[in-house]
Amino acid sequence: MPIRELVLVNDPRLRAQAAPVEQFSAELARLAQDMLDTMHAHHGVGLAGPQIGVMRRIFVAHIPAPESEEEEPLHPRAGETFVFVNPQITRRAPETVEGEEGCLSIPGWRGLVSRPAWVEVAAHTTGGEAFSLTADGLLARIIQHEMDHLDGILYPDHITERDKLWPIETEGEPPPVELPTKPPAV
Ligand SMILES: [Zn+2]
Repeated sequence: MPIRELVLVNDPRLRAQAAPVEQFSAELARLAQDMLDTMHAHHGVGLAGPQIGVMRRIFVAHIPAPESEEEEPLHPRAGETFVFVNPQITRRAPETVEGEEGCLSIPGWRGLVSRPAWVEVAAHTTGGEAFSLTADGLLARIIQHEMDHLDGILYPDHITERDKLWPIETEGEPPPVELPTKPPAV
């Protein structure tokens, strides 16, 4: 279960369109496991193919379960592992909510991003089985953030106000991050 190297911001692969997965094979299941291991190794809650240089439409997600019974879960589905292959958003909330995001490919930064409050997603398992899922809260945010990665979009692309993107304490200098000069088309 090797941990893969992360692709970081300013690498052109993070700006490219990922291609649909065509082969549902044991190799795809191994890729998903590597993605989960890589995500956990970096304490992330989601990871998309392009973030490890795999230009395919696949992402994984996992919200950590509470560490004790007293702790409130971050989401009703905390502790579950999700793998989405060839995902498509089939419905989305008309209303948006603002929430904090970070990205394993953009170390040293956090931002406030407005996104639809819930989404309905149709996708496949690594075995090729179709499923759909309606998610709200943090899970909806993760799904939309990861799906953006499959289309070469990074969360700062949704931020136009400088004070909604800020550096956090990390080892070394945070990489430079560009904000869009005009709001992105929705
Ligand atoms: Zn990300």
